[in-house]
Amino acid sequence: MSKVVVLRCESYDVDVIYDKLQYALEQLGGMESIIPKGQRILVNPNTLVGIDPSAAATTHPAVVEAVFRILQEQGYTQSYGDSPGFGDPGRVMKKCKIAPAADKYNVPLADFTNGQTIHNPEGIISKQFEIANAVFDNDAIINVCKMKSHAFQRITGAVKNPFGCVVGFHKGLMHSRFTNPYNFAEMIVDLANYLPLKLHIMDGIVAMEGNGPRNGNPTPMNTLLISTDPVALDAVFCKLINLKPEIIPTITYGQKYGLGSYQNIELIGDDITTLINPHFDIDRDTVKHTERNNFKVLRQFVIRRPVINEDICVKCGVCVEVCPLEDKAVDFSDGDKSNPPVYDYSKCIRCYCCQEMCPYHAIDTETPLIGKILYRTKILK
Ligand code: SF4
Ligand code: SF4
Repeated sequence: MSKVVVLRCESYDVDVIYDKLQYALEQLGGMESIIPKGQRILVNPNTLVGIDPSAAATTHPAVVEAVFRILQEQGYTQSYGDSPGFGDPGRVMKKCKIAPAADKYNVPLADFTNGQTIHNPEGIISKQFEIANAVFDNDAIINVCKMKSHAFQRITGAVKNPFGCVVGFHKGLMHSRFTNPYNFAEMIVDLANYLPLKLHIMDGIVAMEGNGPRNGNPTPMNTLLISTDPVALDAVFCKLINLKPEIIPTITYGQKYGLGSYQNIELIGDDITTLINPHFDIDRDTVKHTERNNFKVLRQFVIRRPVINEDICVKCGVCVEVCPLEDKAVDFSDGDKSNPPVYDYSKCIRCYCCQEMCPYHAIDTETPLIGKILYRTKILK
């Protein structure tokens, strides 16, 4: 049975978080039982993009600092880092305000700029990854993820966060290889099974709901979740927001392929019923994709698509830059940067990288009218 420690935490006071994490580690048998002394630890927070932590798009620096303090006190050698969706890893860490916490404890930034090709014969769907050197320079990873909604996978939590160990633009290439969200989830589980993930800590003190993982709204969930099982941890996140874990592909494949369990969970700590928010703004429907329904050709007419709000767009071009397709599905028309970029939905693979990365909240997603009708009438499921 997988243990998940659920703790009420209403503040980003480092001392408070430190005490909570110490308690959680005791409940899980102590840090040494999870990661033997002498192992080098990579602390991997969520830094999707360089943004102030008040936006709730990234792991709050206070949670990461509490982890640094615990590891230093216990004599571990540690480094930290993440490969963001856009931008230089070091600069992004500064913008997310995690770098000053690392400096305080002399924790070096690990190498997330360069990587190596690894072969993964055990993989179900992905037998090769480009992994950041940081992973090979360490023995174990502590995954310090963020509680957020996600347009593509419904939630992003413990199972998905280590996607940040795939280096740089290779993350975009994975999106273009695995366009079906179910295949993408299998790839994420393959990656998580490959990486030396030992402990998962979710910052749900202030979570992101709505148009996540980048442009949603911060909402207090007042919760820290800690577990050695990322599938169980994400299932408890679902329980907190009254979402069925069975509809989350990373959870179901996570259990199917041995990463963890969402059905055998022992809850430890505070009473979870006092922390549940049934009104958390998230799409509660099953993840849809026309390829899964064998209607690939209909994709552009039925699947939720990114849409630019021209009143908000500042024509910065980030969406064009992050689109993983060589033949961009979003671009400035005839190279004219005086107007917002436009979509070619016949090319778009619905990876939503543009929606994730728009720095100005100018991209939302909407289901085309034909799709709404077909899903409402249950012609498509
Ligand atoms: S990233 Fe956002 S603001 Fe920038 S061009 Fe694209 S839609 Fe406009
Ligand atoms: S336009 Fe946006 S959603 Fe479509 S493929 Fe490019 S990044 Fe992905």
